[in-house]
Amino acid sequence: MEIRACQFEKRSWIEVDLNQLRKNYHIYKAIIEKNISKDINIMAVVKADAYGCGDVIVAKTLQKEGVKLFAVSNIDEAVTLRKSGIVGEIFILGYTDVKYSDVLVRENIVQTLVSEEHARAFYDVGSNVKCQIAIDTGMNRIGIDADDILESERIIRTYAKKLNLCGVFTHFSVADDETVESVEFTNGQIHKFQNVLDKVKDVELSYIHCYNSAGGLFHLGKNEELNSLSKIIRLGIVLYGLKPDNKNTLPDGIEPVLTWKTTVSMVKTLEINETIGYGRTYKSDCNRTIATITTGYADGYDRHFSNRWYVLIHGKKAPIVGNICMDQMMVDVTNIPETKMGDEVVLIGKSGNEVITADAMAANLQTIGYEIICGISHRVQRTYIE
Ligand SMILES: *Cc1c(COP(=O)(O)O)cnc(C)c1O
Repeated sequence: MEIRACQFEKRSWIEVDLNQLRKNYHIYKAIIEKNISKDINIMAVVKADAYGCGDVIVAKTLQKEGVKLFAVSNIDEAVTLRKSGIVGEIFILGYTDVKYSDVLVRENIVQTLVSEEHARAFYDVGSNVKCQIAIDTGMNRIGIDADDILESERIIRTYAKKLNLCGVFTHFSVADDETVESVEFTNGQIHKFQNVLDKVKDVELSYIHCYNSAGGLFHLGKNEELNSLSKIIRLGIVLYGLKPDNKNTLPDGIEPVLTWKTTVSMVKTLEINETIGYGRTYKSDCNRTIATITTGYADGYDRHFSNRWYVLIHGKKAPIVGNICMDQMMVDVTNIPETKMGDEVVLIGKSGNEVITADAMAANLQTIGYEIICGISHRVQRTYIE
């Protein structure tokens, strides 16, 4: 009998609740349909391995729910999805070198043009790849400059003739922030986008879009004219049940899809004044019971959590003590005396009445939930619950 260890070992793993994923999608979609319109399409953003949840299974699950548009960050992600049986549109949100033009065409992938230079490069190789022009309305990341309306018009008209151009889109910088200043900024971005669109009304563009998760929740519907043009929401973080910004509240029923678990490998007692781990950053102030658990920073568990965060064991909080190691860390289980080798540990998710969210972890490190879940490394097994 062949034994493949990877099938058995559960050292550090995530459980993705596909039912919750479906729920999140349908709740979001229902809100949009109720408030705005039935003919708005959701483009599922599954870049970065579906925010760590596993792009192929997430995309396939959503495809079964009727999603026909998918967005990724690069050609590798796009080809992976196509080869796994995703039949809808696959859209690359960022730069791809023109030398991959043939692959894009062969796999029927839609490419973003990040600049006029990028568009010209595709033209120069005679590419007939399907493409969309990014319009920069204030993010200053990619796109042609919407402030120069005439130049934007010229570029769109030129490449609508020279290339297989099927859309234009922009991206918001602060759609998740509900302060007056940010709302004004987003309205300004919408306005700039609209000014460009007004100039190219006669150009046939099947895809016009600007909203991300937060844009769809907080800005969609406030602008009649744009609603009639922009029929796609690029839905990312809320699909996975996290907040675009920690200050946001999500619609009822939208919950995190991802739980991250690991295992207790050993339990020991420490006497007073013993230290733990590299750098000896923790010293016991009395006798303590310490558990070693089988996840470390190489699994994507941020080492900054050393001595400042906790995990859940048997529904109780166990503080991280000492510096987090590459593959292991130590936690204080003095108050959880039943802890023993082989016990399950929750790093992100629910345990009894306690819950640790990626958003709460992000707040602790002054970052965003996106980074916490995208950072879970590939050696952490992805498992799925229906
Ligand atoms: C990542 C990304 C999205 C999705 O954003 P969320 O905040 O996760 O919904 C949408 N559009 C573009 C261009 C992106 O890069």
